[in-house]
Amino acid sequence: MSNLRVAVVGAGPSGLYACDELLKSTDFEVHIDLYDALPTPYGLVRYGVAPDHQKIKNVTAVFEKIMKDPRLHFHGNVTVGQKELDWMRHSYHAVLFTVGAQADRRLGIPGEDLEGSYSATDFVAWYNGHPDYKDRHFRLDHPRVAVVGVGNVAIDVARILLAGHDRLATTDIADHALHELDQSAVQEVHILARRGPLQAAFTNPELRELVEMEDVSFEIRSDELKLDPYSQAAHEAEPDKAISKRLELLSQATKRPGAKKRLVLRFLVSPLELHGQDKVEKLTLGRNQLNEKLQAKDTGEREETEFGTIFRSIGYKGQPLADLPFDDSKGVITNEGGRVVGQTGVYVAGWIKRGPSGVIGTNKPCAKESVQAILSDALAGKLPTPTINPEEHLPGERVDFAGWKRLDDHEMNLGKESGRPRVKVVERAAMLKHSSEEVAAR
Ligand code: NAP
Repeated sequence: MSNLRVAVVGAGPSGLYACDELLKSTDFEVHIDLYDALPTPYGLVRYGVAPDHQKIKNVTAVFEKIMKDPRLHFHGNVTVGQKELDWMRHSYHAVLFTVGAQADRRLGIPGEDLEGSYSATDFVAWYNGHPDYKDRHFRLDHPRVAVVGVGNVAIDVARILLAGHDRLATTDIADHALHELDQSAVQEVHILARRGPLQAAFTNPELRELVEMEDVSFEIRSDELKLDPYSQAAHEAEPDKAISKRLELLSQATKRPGAKKRLVLRFLVSPLELHGQDKVEKLTLGRNQLNEKLQAKDTGEREETEFGTIFRSIGYKGQPLADLPFDDSKGVITNEGGRVVGQTGVYVAGWIKRGPSGVIGTNKPCAKESVQAILSDALAGKLPTPTINPEEHLPGERVDFAGWKRLDDHEMNLGKESGRPRVKVVERAAMLKHSSEEVAAR
């Protein structure tokens, strides 16, 4: 069997599902170097999944099994840019990028850069203890917060803002975030959807959690809950069980008299301008109606509401990488079924291939398609022959699998002492220290 040396860049779900597929090959003796810019693997499972959704994180047991395969070597704390890609092009038969979507979309409205206006994805990275976001500041000293967008990230952010100490203290939320949220003055979160209930991107289990949150009054205006004629017709033409369930759950949103906190879900409104001297004080909202294509159209009607903080949660966005072709409108590396256009031996999978959609499992078939492209190109003799031995590694302080396990054990031990799944180490230098043998030996 001939050798196939592959570099996989990005140790999140799509990278690990791709490794799993590669290792199943019966045509090649596959050797994988799995790189990640962070000292830790698992990408958004560690830094995206909400801390009160621990069950979802059980998927790391599957990933860990893949990482233990002796044909796979993990290299954490390695950022891959142009220089590293050039080196990889000579060191591997194939390079597969599974780097996800690291930026976010902007609203493009006046006042968006005022203090108090933030990206939800930054907030998520902060409360999940991402080392590059640990020093970020989010204004939580005003009672009213707006979250723009109605995807599952918006729901996560709203829930975390309203959760309260007891729900969060038994999770792996970053200590700094727990501390800040404990001091938070936030009492009302308004989730703002530009379209109607039928078009919301959130899923039913996440909606149900909001409905069931104790001590939170969950409010929806009855006129906004009523379907517009186009949505009503679409729903009647193609009845969908999940949508019917959603409408039922939405109708269960009820004012809880005496509740200290409020969650207000608004439909058919768009933020048009953020006002304030040096920080957000007020938001102008425009009312929308849907056209026959179910797109949001401004009615010209306006309302103004006081908000101290606004999170835009309107989707992640991929970023260009080295000299690879990039489709800016979609935020993906230009590819055909995972093959990067105009390149030999360079592939993509996951969000950088298809855009930021789907749940963790969606990455499995996506990664499979890209791996099939690699393997069929290898069989057809279309891949370059490496001229550099990749064991002559890239310079820099790298974390291998054993190093990650030392850090993992350390965090889990801290967790055991405090009745939490783990206590995350959030300083990069400390993460490197705990993953080195020197510290483990002490
Ligand atoms: P998303 O699901 O794509 O939702 C984005 C939301 O932003 C949509 O409601 C969209 O509305 C809205 N939007 C876009 N542009 C807008 C604009 N200019 N003004 C106002 N609203 C705008 O994105 P996401 O919430 O970031 O989630 C990313 C992926 O991760 C999704 O597949 C999600 O399901 C997944 N995820 C899953 C979980 C979970 O399973 N618990 C948790 C977090 C994330 P329109 O429909 O009108 O465009």
